[in-house]
Amino acid sequence: MNADFVRHLAWTSDHPLGLEIERAEGPFLVLTDGRKLIDFISGIAVSSLGHRHPSVLRAIRDQLDRHLHVMVYGEFIQAPQVRLAKQLASVLPSTLDSVYFTMSGTEANEGALKLAKKYTGRGRMVAFEQSFHGDTHGSLSVTGRRVYQDPFRPLLPGVTFLPFGDFEALEHIDDTFACAIAEPIQGEGGMRLPPRGWFRALRARCTAAGALLVLDEIQTGFGRTGRLFAFEHEGIVPDILTLAKAMGGGMPLGAFVASTEVMQSLRRDPPLSHVTTFGGHPVSCVAASATLQVLQDEGLVERALWVEQRVRTKLKHTLITDLRGRGAMLGMDLINTRVANQVVEHCLQRRVLLGWTLHSGTVIRIAPPLNIPEDTLDDALEIITEVLDVVQAMDAYGLRNG
Ligand code: PLP
Repeated sequence: MNADFVRHLAWTSDHPLGLEIERAEGPFLVLTDGRKLIDFISGIAVSSLGHRHPSVLRAIRDQLDRHLHVMVYGEFIQAPQVRLAKQLASVLPSTLDSVYFTMSGTEANEGALKLAKKYTGRGRMVAFEQSFHGDTHGSLSVTGRRVYQDPFRPLLPGVTFLPFGDFEALEHIDDTFACAIAEPIQGEGGMRLPPRGWFRALRARCTAAGALLVLDEIQTGFGRTGRLFAFEHEGIVPDILTLAKAMGGGMPLGAFVASTEVMQSLRRDPPLSHVTTFGGHPVSCVAASATLQVLQDEGLVERALWVEQRVRTKLKHTLITDLRGRGAMLGMDLINTRVANQVVEHCLQRRVLLGWTLHSGTVIRIAPPLNIPEDTLDDALEIITEVLDVVQAMDAYGLRNG
C-alpha cells in the first residue's frame, strides 16, 4: 500500500480497501496499476450518474469562472443556491418548499433534529433499531447500533429506539416527542424494508402526537430506488426530508427540507442559532442542479427499476438467501459472513467492486450508477455469478480463508 497513505492518513479501520485511484469515468474506476474496475457501489450511492458526467463537469467549470465561497450560508443571494432550491421545490410535494443547504448527510440530519426540537419545543426523539444516520454526535445518537454508540457516550439524552417495521411499537410515540427519524430503506441495516403500510402508520402516529416525521433519504434519494424520492413508494410526505450523497453529483452537498412554516423557527430566538460556513457551496449547488436535470432528462429514475429487474433476473444462486431493496439499491444476503467476505474479495480480483453494509456482515451492497450501460451491468452480474460458483466450490472443499 502507498507508504504516505499508511503513514499520514488517519484510517477508519485496520483494513482499508487501499485501492489507489488514477481516475474515474462513467461506471469505471481506473487504478494507478492500470486495473479498471466496474464500480458497483457508486462511492456508496453517490455517483448515480456515473463518474464525471459531462453535464456536471460543464456546470462546475462555468461556476469556477464566476465565484467560489463568498459568505456563510444564508446571507448572500447566490444564484446556484436559489436555482437549486427552486428546482428541488418543483419536484417535491408543496409542503416541502424551504431548503437549508449543508455539506454532508450527517450535517443535514443534525439540522433536521435541531429544527424538530426548536419547532415543537420538545426534546425527545424516536429512532429505529439498525438505522444509520451519520457519525456526528446528534446523528450517532439516533443511529440504532450500540456497538457504534457505546465508545462515544454520553450521547443525546431522550432518544427512544423502536424496532423498525413493528406496528405495535409505534404506540410509544406520544406528545412528548419532537420527532421520529427513519430511513425509507435501511441501507446500512442491510437494505431492510418495513412491511407494507408501516410508513403510513408511522406518519399517522406522528401526526396524532404532533411529532415531526423526519425521513432520511440521504441514501435512497435522487432516483436510486426507482422513484425520485423513496417516500413516494409509501404514499406519505415527511415533515422534514434530509438529503445528501447523490445530490451533488460527486460534489459534497446535503440539505434538510421542510415547510416554510416549520423552517421559520430557525430564524429567531435567537437569530443565527443554526449556521454553517460552507453549506450550499456554489460549486456543489451547480453540480446538483445539473445532476437533477440529467436524472430527469435521461430517464434515470425509471432506469433504476430496469436495473433492479435485470439484477433480480440474472442474479440467482443457492448462496443467496435473499435479494432485498428497491431499484438500484439492493442487498444480496449471503448464507454467512465468511462467504460474503470471499465474494467481495474474489469479485475485486475479477474487477467488480462490491461492498458490505455497515450493520450486516452477510449483506453485500449492489448500487451501480443508474446509467450503467447494459453490457457493463451484464458483465458484472456474470462475474458475480461465476464468483459465487467458485466460492461455493471452495467452501464445499473446505478451502476457507474467511
Ligand atoms: N444517513 C444515511 C441513511 C446514510 O447512508 C449516511 C451515509 O452513509 C448518512 C446519513 C451520513 O451521511 P454523510 O456520510 O454524508 O455524513
